[in-house]
Amino acid sequence: MKVISYAALKEKSQLERYEYDKPELKDNEVEVKITHCGICHSDIHLIDNDWGISKYPLIPGHEIIGIVENTGKNVKHLKKGMRVGIGWQADSCGYCEYCLSGQEQLCSRNQPTCIGRPGGFAHAIIVNSKFAIPLPDELESENAAPLLCAGITVYNPLRIYGVKPYMKVGVIGIGGLGHLALQFANAFGCEVTAFSSSKDKEEEAKKLGAHNFISLIDISEKELNRYKNYFDFLLSTVFVDLDWKLFVSLLKPNGRLNFVGAGGNINIPIPMLLNNKIISGSAIGSPGMIKEMFEFAARHQIKAKTELFPLEKVNEAIYKVKENRVRYRAVLKM
Ligand SMILES: [Zn+2]
Ligand SMILES: [Zn+2]
Repeated sequence: MKVISYAALKEKSQLERYEYDKPELKDNEVEVKITHCGICHSDIHLIDNDWGISKYPLIPGHEIIGIVENTGKNVKHLKKGMRVGIGWQADSCGYCEYCLSGQEQLCSRNQPTCIGRPGGFAHAIIVNSKFAIPLPDELESENAAPLLCAGITVYNPLRIYGVKPYMKVGVIGIGGLGHLALQFANAFGCEVTAFSSSKDKEEEAKKLGAHNFISLIDISEKELNRYKNYFDFLLSTVFVDLDWKLFVSLLKPNGRLNFVGAGGNINIPIPMLLNNKIISGSAIGSPGMIKEMFEFAARHQIKAKTELFPLEKVNEAIYKVKENRVRYRAVLKM
């Protein structure tokens, strides 16, 4: 049996229709018929081999929603016909201290869904069944797909770093990740501030849950001073270098600046951190945290704003993502 997919056959190329042999299903695995897959900036970095880890043919895609088609004989919790989500992680070792403590994303043998194995720009996928998370009925497949990478990437730090309802949270960068972070932080009960370089996002950021909007292009010295020592938690979702000294100055003592965007450098004078200020990073989240996020998103009606493209138009969709013209996530429909 062949699986129809779209793959980059070499670095920086357009994707082409590509068929590969469906591997045999192992006892702990699940085969999923894919219905939707989001396009993440990481997919584009992988196509272009920006991180030097890509293997070709490369089938991108790690914001996957689909229907269980087949289960290995040891799989008890999934049944044919169930709707599931699959994110960046397709497998892990299962027995290291991180796997045993529900932090599988930190496993050194973490297997990314679309590096060295076929990803979600395809009609089917096979993964370790632990990493296929059942989707609550309330969530629609199209706007739940981006939760699998963008969503968990911003939900996880809010949870593991103990963000509380009385806190003031700032989200830096309002794109695929940031527009979900605003919704989550608002539903957590926090006061939420959006930082964006696109002034035209103010109205929408406020609809998504921001109480305040700060334009990174033309903020005045006076306005900034109002926010000195103001934030308990700042979440950076951007891929570019900003004035991180400035953002650290906006943190309260004990405040945290957490990075989830995969890029850039920081250079902070150590004395700025001596009021117990914390700088940290995090990536994705565990299967358990994805399950929790799904339930939270269903309860609070949190959804990605999406633009739908048929799988055959994947190159058009990628072009639009690169041009920064998608508000806020492109999703492929199979
Ligand atoms: Zn991603
Ligand atoms: Zn492990």
